[in-house]
Amino acid sequence: MSEDLYQEIILDHYKNPRGKKVEIDSLAQSYQVNPTCGDEVTVEVGQNPDGTLLVSYDGQGCSISQASASVMSELINGKTPAEAAPIQEAFMELMKSKGQLEPDEEVLEDAIAFAGVSKYPARIKCALISWMALSDAQIKAQLTATTTTRSG
Ligand code: ZN
Repeated sequence: MSEDLYQEIILDHYKNPRGKKVEIDSLAQSYQVNPTCGDEVTVEVGQNPDGTLLVSYDGQGCSISQASASVMSELINGKTPAEAAPIQEAFMELMKSKGQLEPDEEVLEDAIAFAGVSKYPARIKCALISWMALSDAQIKAQLTATTTTRSG
C-alpha cells in the first residue's frame, strides 16, 4: 500500500475521530503525554456485560497522535481482552520495525497506516501514546488478557 493511502487513512481518522469523548462506564483511565511533540491523551476502559472492552479517549496533539487514538479505539472497542492482545502486540511490533515490517491488514486494519511512521523515530511516540495509555488503563482495570481469559 502506498504512503499516500496511509496518509489518507491518518487524515480521515484525524478529521473524523472514532470513539472520542464517548461517555462510557469506565473502570480505569490513563493519561499519557508526549513532551517532545506536545501530544496528550487520556484513555478510559470499561467492560460490557459480555466481557468485551469499552474504550473511549480524549486528547489533543498532532495528527498522528490523534489519528492513532481513533484507530486504537475503533479496533479495540468491542473486542475481548484476549482478542485485543494480539492486535496490541502487532501494533507495537509494527512501530518497532523501522519501516521493515509488512503490516498484516487482517489484524491491524486501519492501523497499517502507521507503518510509514515507524521509519521516523521522532514520530513513533506520537503513534504509541494512546496504545500505551490503553495498556496502562487495562492493567489498572484488570482487563488484560491474562486476567480475563481464565474460565472458572
Ligand atoms: Zn505528535
